[in-house]
Amino acid sequence: MTATIIDGNALAASIRGQIAARAGALKARGVTPCLSVILVGDDPASAVYVRNKVAACEKAGVRSLKFVYPSDVEPAVVFAKIAELNADPAVHGILVQLPLPRNFDADAILEAISVDKDVDGFHAENVGALAQGKPRFIPCTPYGVMKMLESAGTPVKGAEAVVVGRSNIVGKPMALLLLAQSATVTICHSQSKDLAFHTRRADILVAAVGRERMITGDMIKPGATVIDVGMNRFSSGPNAGKLCGDVDFETAKEVAGAITPVPGGVGPMTITMLLQNTLESAERSVR
Ligand code: NDP
Repeated sequence: MTATIIDGNALAASIRGQIAARAGALKARGVTPCLSVILVGDDPASAVYVRNKVAACEKAGVRSLKFVYPSDVEPAVVFAKIAELNADPAVHGILVQLPLPRNFDADAILEAISVDKDVDGFHAENVGALAQGKPRFIPCTPYGVMKMLESAGTPVKGAEAVVVGRSNIVGKPMALLLLAQSATVTICHSQSKDLAFHTRRADILVAAVGRERMITGDMIKPGATVIDVGMNRFSSGPNAGKLCGDVDFETAKEVAGAITPVPGGVGPMTITMLLQNTLESAERSVR
């Protein structure tokens, strides 16, 4: 059996088209959705993420503002910028690219963002709202995964869902979203005993670990939907240096019913849902 490939690029393009249309309708009412991105320091990966986010905004008719600071900037300067953006009615989304330099209290920075403009959904109040099943902003990566499950026609209600990874940005919100749609959810992490015992029970398996090809075909239930959030690089072999996920795609696709590739799976959906959150925030501002 060879799994159906869930094409993140195609789904992202379709959703971005809908976002552009809704952004156009808002513009006609005098409101241009606007995302502000703050980047501190010179981490090359962060610079690439920010560049991609800004480019995606442009294509979807979302205005973007970018504020770049050196790594030795005083945190007070960044707090002041966040306060200014919080107060600006033309700004609908504020994102601070993580990780921040060590002298920054990342939690304090995230809490400084207005809960009504927290398009990453990382503010404690928004995390609480999500946990209560009343989300204001859904964190972008798990939001994208839910859209992929929907597009693949994977039933969530009553399904055994296993999430590997419990980070605040992926694993935990992922589990909450699956639970909200009535899956029976198991969360695995680095201290879980017998990971394969859990993954083999999963109708829906989400891998969000950051370890090259750690989920192999023999750990997957035949017919399962497998979502690979991981973004790693092959450490050796003919593909050394190229992108790969947490799932060993070659063995997994022979067992799974549907599977996301890396690249071209969850990655493009994450930025798409950031645009979606910014658009929804802008729409709320005129209601
Ligand atoms: P974190 O490092 O914050 O979390 C990793 C999680 O994996 C932790 O909960 C950790 O457990 C768990 N873990 C580590 N080793 C094992 C193991 N051997 N067995 C089971 N669980 C294990 O990573 P993130 O959640 O931020 O990201 C995960 C991956 O997803 C990364 O590759 C990242 O690059 C990628 N990513 C991709 C995105 C996309 O758009 N495609 C967006 C965001 C992330 P413990 O808590 O016990 O330490």
